[in-house]
Amino acid sequence: MSSLGGIKMPSCLPLLLTHERVLLPGSTVRLNVDTPRNMHLIKHRLLKGTSLKSTIIGVIPNTRDPEKDTDDLPTLHKIGTAGIAVQVVGSNWPKPHYTILITGLCRFSVSSLLTERPFVLAEVEQLDKQEQYTTQADGVSAEDGELQELSQKFYQTALQLLLHCASKLFKGQGQIIIHRFPQLFFCRTGPLRTQFVGLGVSAHPQLLGMLDLSVPVVAKFRRLLDSLPKETLPDVVASMIRTSNKEKLQVLSVRKGVVFPGRQFNLNEEDDEDDGDDTASLERKVHVANMPDAALRVCLKELKRLKKMPQSMPEYALTRNYLDLMVELPWSKYSKDCLNIQAARTLLDNDHYAMDKLKRRVLEYLAVRQLKASLKGPILCFVGPPGVGKTSVGRSIAKTLGREFHRIALGGVCDQSDIRGHRRTYVGSMPGRIINGLKTVGVNNPVFLFDEVDKLGKSLQGDPAAALLEVLDPEQNHSFTDHYLNVAFDLSQVLFIATANTTATIPPALLDRMEVLQVPGYTQEEKVEISHRHLIPNQMEQHGLSPKQLHIPQDTTKDIINRYTHEAGVRSLERKIGAICRAVAVKIAERQADSNTEELTSEGHTQQGAEKAAPPAMPIVIDHRALKDILGAPPFDMEVSERLTLPGVALGLAWTPLGGEIMFVEASRTAGEGQLTLTGQLGDVMKESAHLSISWLRANAKRYQLTNMVGGPDPLEGTDIHLHFPAGAVTKDGPSAGVTIVTCLTSLFSGRLVRSDVAMTGEITLRGLVLPVGGIKDKVLAAHRAGVKRVIVPKRNEKDLEELPANVRDDLDFVAAANLNQVLNAAFDGGFPGTGSVLERPQLNSKL
Ligand code: ADP
Repeated sequence: MSSLGGIKMPSCLPLLLTHERVLLPGSTVRLNVDTPRNMHLIKHRLLKGTSLKSTIIGVIPNTRDPEKDTDDLPTLHKIGTAGIAVQVVGSNWPKPHYTILITGLCRFSVSSLLTERPFVLAEVEQLDKQEQYTTQADGVSAEDGELQELSQKFYQTALQLLLHCASKLFKGQGQIIIHRFPQLFFCRTGPLRTQFVGLGVSAHPQLLGMLDLSVPVVAKFRRLLDSLPKETLPDVVASMIRTSNKEKLQVLSVRKGVVFPGRQFNLNEEDDEDDGDDTASLERKVHVANMPDAALRVCLKELKRLKKMPQSMPEYALTRNYLDLMVELPWSKYSKDCLNIQAARTLLDNDHYAMDKLKRRVLEYLAVRQLKASLKGPILCFVGPPGVGKTSVGRSIAKTLGREFHRIALGGVCDQSDIRGHRRTYVGSMPGRIINGLKTVGVNNPVFLFDEVDKLGKSLQGDPAAALLEVLDPEQNHSFTDHYLNVAFDLSQVLFIATANTTATIPPALLDRMEVLQVPGYTQEEKVEISHRHLIPNQMEQHGLSPKQLHIPQDTTKDIINRYTHEAGVRSLERKIGAICRAVAVKIAERQADSNTEELTSEGHTQQGAEKAAPPAMPIVIDHRALKDILGAPPFDMEVSERLTLPGVALGLAWTPLGGEIMFVEASRTAGEGQLTLTGQLGDVMKESAHLSISWLRANAKRYQLTNMVGGPDPLEGTDIHLHFPAGAVTKDGPSAGVTIVTCLTSLFSGRLVRSDVAMTGEITLRGLVLPVGGIKDKVLAAHRAGVKRVIVPKRNEKDLEELPANVRDDLDFVAAANLNQVLNAAFDGGFPGTGSVLERPQLNSKL
């Protein structure tokens, strides 16, 4: 037996036969083992049970394709490499095989074969000394000097190539994985302590040649350097990327120039300068990260552990990632507040049209913060339909403060580790969104916008709302502990803002922490202004169009708003404008192409420069026809009045998280036994409203001269009633449809039409009183959008009308009804018979 620098090289070695790959001393390769002989070798010599027993085996190239493995022993190459198995993984998919990770030690030649089955065993003779690859001679000979120089040169070239590969393939990612290309071969050689990569562009025969060479390392290096292509490196990489067969790529990773098959590491040039000790730079970073003592202690402890770990251990990468995050976090980095209330007002006004109440409150909030320099106030929560500018105001707040902005979407989050991170014991554990957000913005006082807090879910994995509560609570958030980080991070300088579509589904404890600012939908006029001041200029800029090229008149904007969109906010309006811009951009590009060809044919050559791209003299004007060509036929063209042409239909108003909606209520009757059928997505409260309405009608049928199908006064006698609430998308679980159902049924039983321009909302009691309801502003805006002229609201909601924009109030005729008499009187043309003289009776009754 000969010595292998502490490891004994046996004179008799089991041989692993390889076909495609060549193991060289000093290199580490991953080999796929699936032929019977090789599998026997692994099973009997390397594995005990399922764990790896470390053994030296010989790896020797053979001449036959493994696919054609028959019983005969293929011809073996005369020289092989003894290697030490680092890892063996077995799998049955797609067929039984092992993958072995093996590091080459030294070369050997085969003296004689001892056995062929179950695996090959051979008497071998060691060819070179292991020391050549692992230790450095004490005295530096001339050859050593050359070796150093060559290896340095080689290292630089290799690294350059790898870096280029990396930046080409994985632009801007922290983790870099290098794909191995068939023509590229990496080998590690030289003194192990200053690990470096050898690299050559070499094919199988050349590798075999390398194996056969009994020359010293210096000569191998010369050979390798010679084999590097003479073209510039970027060209080499580009051609390798082009020619490599993607499916066969083996993932390699690189750390400080050492290639690890199938693993991931950071490739960091800084590390490489670090004289072989990558943890040193990490340690430096830990000390300059300016973190609190507790965090620093944890980092130093982890660092100590890291230094003791071999890099091949999976935990190395985990610890390393953890430390990388710790040093990246903005423990003490912050943006300087630069609040100037006057400038903030101007900025908010410039960025947003209307929303006066909201802007006023935001300015107050900012002013108080400036005076008190503390954040212990309520958290602002903007509540309103989508597309009304909630996020956009949040962004403006960050801008006025000169802070970073980060949006955290909470819609559908139902696991508290989303907020608070996974413990590091989990595989694939990650920090939560708060810590991630801080890492992204790189300062500890950003503006965080929690989007859609009303859509937080709940699951077995804990309640994210509870985690959020801790984040938002000024008493607790100065020591927020993410599970992954496991040390406290001070969130007290972060400015939190939340948005929601409705307060109804915000967890109460969370709602309690927040000051709700309602952001209602826009009127048509406001939308026109927003379009022309913001949306159209923005979209035109995004599409590279100038006012000389495109003009959208106000009439067209109105048309888009009324006939192509159906929303409280301006989001789909913005999309439609975007669609117009795209269509116009195509037209202009076509025109330019045409004029270019004309020039070419008339003058026989192309004109150069600016003249070539001259815009058309006239802007493209989007009129109604152009609008129809671009956007197609309008989807919302049905007039409300067209639907109110039969008795038994009334127009109600509903509130949804997406804004107000108009809602038709339809009723029909047939001969029957007094059954009531309700259809169209109803909540329980709605069913109650329907029953209530019918009871009230039965009690008051005589007074209103209502008759049933057989002429009697009880509407239900011999009659089945069917009530239907179309518009499936609108959830109708509010009580506010009471007045609409009564009106609809009254119309059905009296045979009279409800006025086609009236919409209504209000809860009713059994005695016929009209009770106040919520969401009046959104509902009235929806009625206004739909072109309704008269809106019946509960008397006690009259005060809410003051919040409406003046033009809406001017356009509409409001009837504030205290009881159903007044509702019916206002809903039917010329009033309703039976309501006149007894108008106030229900109220009088109720007072008795
Ligand atoms: P939300 O967060 O309420 O769903 P966004 O903030 O995403 O809505 O707004 C959608 C788009 O509408 C954005 O481009 C925004 O700038 C624009 N927008 C909304 N309201 C206004 C407004 N009052 N003035 C100017 N632009 C607005």
